[in-house]
Amino acid sequence: MKAVVKTKPEPGAELQEVDAPTPGPGEVLIKIAATSICGTDLHIYEWNDWAKSRIRIPQIMGHEFAGYVEEVGAEVHTVSPGDYVSAETHIYCGKCFLCHIGKAHICRNVEILGVDRDGSFAEYIVVPERVVWKNALDLPPKVASIREPFGNAVHAIKRAQVAGKRVLIFGDGTIGLMACAVAKALGAYSVWLVGLVKRRLELARALGADEAVNARAADPVAQVRKWTEGLGADVVLEMAGAEAAFRQALEAVRPGGRLIAFGLPPREVPLDIPQLVFKEVEVVGVVGRHIFGTWEQATRLLSRLDLSPLVTHELPLSEFQLGFEKLLRRAAIKVILYPGE
Ligand SMILES: [Zn+2]
Ligand SMILES: [Zn+2]
Repeated sequence: MKAVVKTKPEPGAELQEVDAPTPGPGEVLIKIAATSICGTDLHIYEWNDWAKSRIRIPQIMGHEFAGYVEEVGAEVHTVSPGDYVSAETHIYCGKCFLCHIGKAHICRNVEILGVDRDGSFAEYIVVPERVVWKNALDLPPKVASIREPFGNAVHAIKRAQVAGKRVLIFGDGTIGLMACAVAKALGAYSVWLVGLVKRRLELARALGADEAVNARAADPVAQVRKWTEGLGADVVLEMAGAEAAFRQALEAVRPGGRLIAFGLPPREVPLDIPQLVFKEVEVVGVVGRHIFGTWEQATRLLSRLDLSPLVTHELPLSEFQLGFEKLLRRAAIKVILYPGE
């Protein structure tokens, strides 16, 4: 089969002809209909410090996908050939303390698709039955392929507890944009987004943000204070993964408010502890999706929200390099790759 493989410890990746995987006991073989490039894939493509420390080469990249079950291994009972599916990308063990207390997404033995094992930038993928999710048949593959990052947005907004609140989101990446729509759908009183790219700020408004401000043009903290009688936002989500945004997020949250840490800064970020203490800010780290509570909730939200404007480029798998280049220049939001073309 064709697959995009990380073959060398340097920037880039290669389209290769490799053996298609076969499903073992408890595993499912899926024919990929659509697969989407994520920020994690960009890190692996660029070969940053995190990728160097985590990725074993050669490895097939990619983890966000939708496809059709081709074949099931022995002892698979809930999935059948022909099912239209996506998958939770955190392969949890189901046996550790965290899995037992309902926190499988932070399982001690988690393996991530396309990071710790072969991924979805290929014609086929094998995943354990326990992470397979059946999609609604009317959900287009390009949208079904981005429900994994959508789940990140749903999980983060759920943890933020936004109903009736004034919500500020830092970051105009895919998940920050999705979070605008989710926050509105889950009853936020108002939603403001801080970003850097004009087109993305427009999209934030189209997805439900009341205001979207350019961090280069205006001081976001001053702006939020103006909107909140000097008080600050009830809830702030840091989804930019930038040191400056984290500092501003702490300044922009009101006393007694909640700060969601979601973005991953490339370096350690110094934290103003006295400000945190005197404002009694609750800081909550958020990762992944609650398995499978988030998927259930995301399914309901997807029947109401239209995520298709986030998909800016659709390419055959063989043109993956073009997709990566556009994303690295921030000229694209979501790039979908089709192995069947
Ligand atoms: Zn992803
Ligand atoms: Zn576990």
